Amino acid sequence: MTAHHFIGNARVPARDGRTIPVIDPADGQPFDELARGSADDVDQAVRAAQAAMGPHLNGPWATTCARDRGRLLARWGHAVLAQADTLAALEARDTGKAPATARNDVAALARYFEYYAGACDKLHGETLPYESGYTVLTVREPHGVTGHIIPWNYPMQIFGRSVGAALAAGNACVVKPAEDASLSTLHLAELAADIGFPAGALNVVTGYGIEAGAALTAHPGIAHISFTGSTLTGQHVAEAAARRHCPVTLELGGKSPQIVFEDADLDKALPVIVNAIIQNSGQTCSAGSRLLVQESIYETFLARVAERFRDLRTGPPSRHPDLGPLVNRKQFERVHQMLDVAREEHLTEAARGRIMEGAPAAGYYQEAVLFRDVPGDSALARQEIFGPVLVAQPFRDEAHALDLANDTEYGLVAGVWTRDGARQLRLARQLRCGQVFVNNYGAGGGVELPFGGVKSSGYGREKGFEALLGFTVLKTVSIHHG
Ligand code: NDP
Repeated sequence: MTAHHFIGNARVPARDGRTIPVIDPADGQPFDELARGSADDVDQAVRAAQAAMGPHLNGPWATTCARDRGRLLARWGHAVLAQADTLAALEARDTGKAPATARNDVAALARYFEYYAGACDKLHGETLPYESGYTVLTVREPHGVTGHIIPWNYPMQIFGRSVGAALAAGNACVVKPAEDASLSTLHLAELAADIGFPAGALNVVTGYGIEAGAALTAHPGIAHISFTGSTLTGQHVAEAAARRHCPVTLELGGKSPQIVFEDADLDKALPVIVNAIIQNSGQTCSAGSRLLVQESIYETFLARVAERFRDLRTGPPSRHPDLGPLVNRKQFERVHQMLDVAREEHLTEAARGRIMEGAPAAGYYQEAVLFRDVPGDSALARQEIFGPVLVAQPFRDEAHALDLANDTEYGLVAGVWTRDGARQLRLARQLRCGQVFVNNYGAGGGVELPFGGVKSSGYGREKGFEALLGFTVLKTVSIHHG
């Protein structure tokens, strides 16, 4: 494939002709290349998006009515499902995802398009009671051109929830995918053009975050930024945006607890808890990475989790493993660094999965690892690892569980496992995070459910109708007619 951006419904090479190799995480070898976007390329994409919106919301995309935006999104969703195998295979190759996870991502992407297709013409303002002789109303307008910085862990899902909602609300989008996961985004943009989105409604600039991503964040033509990624880069993005008063939605990391009480349905909890940390090889912002278990069942339940962990196989996506390789060398080294810290801290390893025989030595394979009795002040209990590493801690009672669960700089998701209804409600209210799952765990939750964090996990909400509101500006119109 020739390396290209996708701007104004056309494939466009980088202006300076530079490229980035695309590496297969399964064997560490390059198999494709991407355009290496610069500030000039970003500027070209923003101009194409501005033309689609027009100077006074009178461009071809801004004047596409809500019903027709919905029809386009619905058609896009059908096209995604029709190409599900192609998209899943592309994503598995590019990111190292297990094929089952990639297929799940395609299904979720199609659902986002369906959901926002149906929501387009239900997004409206209100009339407000005011003084006699006035009619006052609110209208919801698009921000204009929105910027979307998408990470490599769930490229299609995050594209769907962010770009799907922004387009539904009538914005034109410029997307900068992670350089380790750009192929599906380019494919989706071409699909959008094929099914009839007008030129400039959706543009993709590939490249490095520090170059193309930073240029997008700083561009004066971008009216809203949605960012998913690390806490540190999120800070940089928010700082750059604040300099020009640009609103930002930040979905950052997590260290989400799974709290298991002695009265829980343990047979139901076990597979969900294991899946919540191994899904996508632990590279999930909402991974359930801390396991808090009541003392009375700690030993027996941990033994069952350990048994599962020992059976988990990490290997190339083509061999349908439980866990695929990590996305890149940087992530592989980061996880290894954390495991070195565990050794230095003399943490107790309770179980470890295995790497499949014959997995290429140059691939980024990491076994699932379970640590037990991890102190609350350990780096492993506090920092996001973004790998298949679960840390277990015992708790005495509900108050102790709540103290441990909330003792984190993050606040994205929490899972509670108990049959006690009053306790379910108490914890749902007292846990400091954006989503609480009781007797289930959504690893990100459904398309319809607002998602986002508190504290260092970020602010603003993605998914559901709430995301749609975030992609609009509310204008108040007061008419004095006497
Ligand atoms: P980053 O936050 O650096 O990357 C996320 C996205 O931001 C990528 O698209 C990246 O592009 C882009 N980016 C990087 N620097 C800038 C910048 N200065 N301005 C604008 N955009 C930028 O995360 P990493 O990939 O380095 O991963 C580090 C850690 O972040 C992980 O170990 C994990 O803990 C966390 N993370 C969390 C995610 C989540 O879902 N909340 C997703 C990914 C990571 P590019 O990749 O091309 O450089």
